[in-house]
Amino acid sequence: MPLIVQKFGGTSVADPEKILAAARKAIRAHQEGNQVIVVVSAMGHNTDLLIDLAHQVSDDPPAREMDMLLSTGEQVSVALMAMAVHNLGYKAVSLTGAQIGIHTDSSYTKARIRSIATERMSQLLNDGNIVIAAGFQGIDDQLNITTLGRGGSDTTAVALAAVMHADACEIHTDVDGVYTTDPRLLPEARHMSLISYDEMLELASLGAGVMHNRSIEFAKKFGVPIHVRSSFSDTLGTMIISEPESKSVPVCGAAMNKSEARITIQGVPDSPGNSYQIFKRIADRKITVDMIVQNVGQENRADISFTVPQDELAKALAAVKEAKEVVGATGITSDDKVTKVSVVGLGMAHQTGVAQKMFRALANESINIQMITTSEIKISVLVERGQSLPALRAVHQSFELHRKPDDLTEWKPRSQRQENPNIQDVVERLHMLDMEQLTLSDISLTGDQASVTLVGVPDQPGLAAEVFDVVAAAGVFVDMIVQSCDGFNGDTSISFTVPKDQLANCVKAVESLKSRYSFRRIVSNDSIAKLSVSGIGLRSHTSVAIGMFDALAQANINVQMISTSELRVNVVVAAKDGAKGLAALQDKFKDNLR
Ligand code: ADP
Ligand code: ASP
Ligand code: MG
Repeated sequence: MPLIVQKFGGTSVADPEKILAAARKAIRAHQEGNQVIVVVSAMGHNTDLLIDLAHQVSDDPPAREMDMLLSTGEQVSVALMAMAVHNLGYKAVSLTGAQIGIHTDSSYTKARIRSIATERMSQLLNDGNIVIAAGFQGIDDQLNITTLGRGGSDTTAVALAAVMHADACEIHTDVDGVYTTDPRLLPEARHMSLISYDEMLELASLGAGVMHNRSIEFAKKFGVPIHVRSSFSDTLGTMIISEPESKSVPVCGAAMNKSEARITIQGVPDSPGNSYQIFKRIADRKITVDMIVQNVGQENRADISFTVPQDELAKALAAVKEAKEVVGATGITSDDKVTKVSVVGLGMAHQTGVAQKMFRALANESINIQMITTSEIKISVLVERGQSLPALRAVHQSFELHRKPDDLTEWKPRSQRQENPNIQDVVERLHMLDMEQLTLSDISLTGDQASVTLVGVPDQPGLAAEVFDVVAAAGVFVDMIVQSCDGFNGDTSISFTVPKDQLANCVKAVESLKSRYSFRRIVSNDSIAKLSVSGIGLRSHTSVAIGMFDALAQANINVQMISTSELRVNVVVAAKDGAKGLAALQDKFKDNLR
């Protein structure tokens, strides 16, 4: 009998009528001949209310007790949902994470799933029950209750679909699918019929709250197609699968995150091991770091900027102060009034001028770019928080995201889709292991790139646009771009990599700007190597960037530039260190390669 997992989010079970409506949807699927597992979130804003309550009795609630408290939200929902199904004349049994046997590690409030027991659910389904599972929660080795992080019910749903070999995983929510950006922010956002795992993973981790990013890691790893659809209607929704919606467009969506803060460590001596010293201290406090920007060092000192969740800024600053003393950096600055705006698209990997277009759109609105990082399929910039919405709108417009691409991938039901023939194998193998364990697909070295750094550029709107306009006009394909801010000497500098054989051309192009802008220096370097580690969900597995810094430091290799994304972490090192660096990384991650 086919098995279907249906997840209902907070708004979809916010009151008794909505719970009854969701129960009817589950019953309908059951009547159509499916076995049904329903995953539910806490009702409405209950999780927020519980968090608020905790802060009324404690300034710093212990994480273990927080999870004890937060898990009650989902427990209320499963019980009510099971009662609603009973009331409509069908059999249902509610289960908490512990009762299902969702085993996690012990990192309270952001626990990772290790394994899921399937026996009890299978038994209940075979006995004709609709199984009602509590989302967002699990249990650790000591039987402590854990939660998976805000929005984690999506991850519960996709993980259950994976281990139960479900035929479909439906995410029922308060929008009728995935849009090119949050439709609450921009009404001109367009509904998408399809989106690829990689794009959704990036968008989710860059601020598109419609899906929990770790649920997409699961979906990709275990080959689970996700169907995001409205709880309140039967419209088609959006499929999240391996293919993109269009093969021609460079950008499929935009997202923003208003809850990040920026930290810059100025004047870090440019020597092996210093990045490791800094990021290790942050990782030890379990703080996730994003947008790490390290420019090519000047005067033997580099500036390192990165963003952290705003509510963890104080903790991160404490870590950084400690690191500053150890590495002998000259200063620390921070800003908690910033917003990260990003565009994502598989198509940008093969097209020129994508970054330039984004920078130009922002320049036209006089929006200053404080920081830039790019990777194969995403570009992120940091802007002042007051300009969040104009920045998002400018970027959305410039890529014409409101418009349907001409070459839409055909929407096919799952039964007609060619699945990965080895997926069953993968599922079995991974299920034996730690389900959310880091899995890497590749570690590689490329030597065909050169780097260009513009040192001491004026910090003003339009600068990045000008630079990449002239670079694009010279026909140069730009790969990694990083722009740091607030550096040593108060400098802003922009570094980027280009193919070696286009270096001379590129330098000539940027030199033409010298008459209009006062750069302190243009530095080019054609003896660099790029080392890349690829996998799934690398940003939430902060251990990857840290592990790379660690391995390279131990091999006495200096990191010149870094860029991170969900799919890949890239570092630039001196060409002479390339092979040694590759060997060090292969050794470091040998247990994670699949
Ligand atoms: P649930 O409680 O069902 O999990 P969420 O609030 O977590 O619902 O997610 C749904 C919300 O995600 C929508 O109401 C929408 O405002 C927001 N959202 C953010 N980005 C997007 C996007 N790209 N497409 C659709 N919705 C988005
Ligand atoms: N109730 C949890 C939250 O609000 C989990 C979820 O809704 O997915 O974050
Ligand atoms: Mg959600």
